Amino acid sequence: MAQEFDGLAAIVTGGASGIGAAIAAELVAAGASVAVLDLTESVSPDVTSLRADVGDDASVREAVVAAAERFGRLDIVVNNAGIGAQGTIEDNTDAEWARVLDINVVGMVRVARAALPFLRQSRAAAIVNTCSIAATAGLPQRALYSASKGAVLALTQAMAADHLHEGIRVNCVNPGTADTPWVGRLLASQVDPAAERRALNARQPHGRLVSAQEVAGAVLYLASPRSGSTTGTSIAVDGGMQALRLRPV
Ligand code: NAD
Repeated sequence: MAQEFDGLAAIVTGGASGIGAAIAAELVAAGASVAVLDLTESVSPDVTSLRADVGDDASVREAVVAAAERFGRLDIVVNNAGIGAQGTIEDNTDAEWARVLDINVVGMVRVARAALPFLRQSRAAAIVNTCSIAATAGLPQRALYSASKGAVLALTQAMAADHLHEGIRVNCVNPGTADTPWVGRLLASQVDPAAERRALNARQPHGRLVSAQEVAGAVLYLASPRSGSTTGTSIAVDGGMQALRLRPV
């Protein structure tokens, strides 16, 4: 049976874990050829795993070209790799600011820049960036992370404008607190992880964490021609947190 992404090729950065792994799996299930670009190897036998550091331009270029050569095309770029940071502006050094902005923002620029020549040849070109509700929520103790995701939101809109007439759509997803190894690591660092998880669930408007698969569902919509009239915008996958003007403190 024909599938929605048959014949299309995608790259997913940070696709070895969490949200990125779910996106890669859903794209494969929908018929796409998928290359995962990550610092660590993907355990999925269904994807092409390419080691790449989005903080290193040469490594990104090499991996993007390798993916395009392997598939003979490149249609979809999912810029998902990202790292966290906690604290107020007094808690992070200049070096930490430079590093997180470099990975979370410039990393997306590097990947998209390397992919643009291939995307221009596609009739179904789409870039989807993993942003966060942190972009607009005013989260306490997340100044650096929020600034990085605010930049991702602005970058998404600016790129959508720049590449509109080339037929390349650019959108982002804004997950709320999602149940991934990232959040698992944060919970594991607490005194009582199980109690912290229950409390975290209770703080979500719909009483539970967002699943990585739910975020992937929104990404697949934005990557598919079904969203052909949608560019420069974001979809919140947050259980209603933004709508209710809540913050995941
Ligand atoms: P995760 O830690 O489970 O996975 C992140 C992946 O990115 C890992 O496989 C890691 O190796 C890879 N990665 C990190 N730095 C990289 C680099 N320099 N180059 C290449 N790959 C790199 O995290 P996750 O929760 O799945 O988060 C994925 C994205 O979702 C991030 O951009 C994050 O900011 C965003 N996000 C997460 C949540 C959440 O609650 N989990 C909420 C909103 C947004």
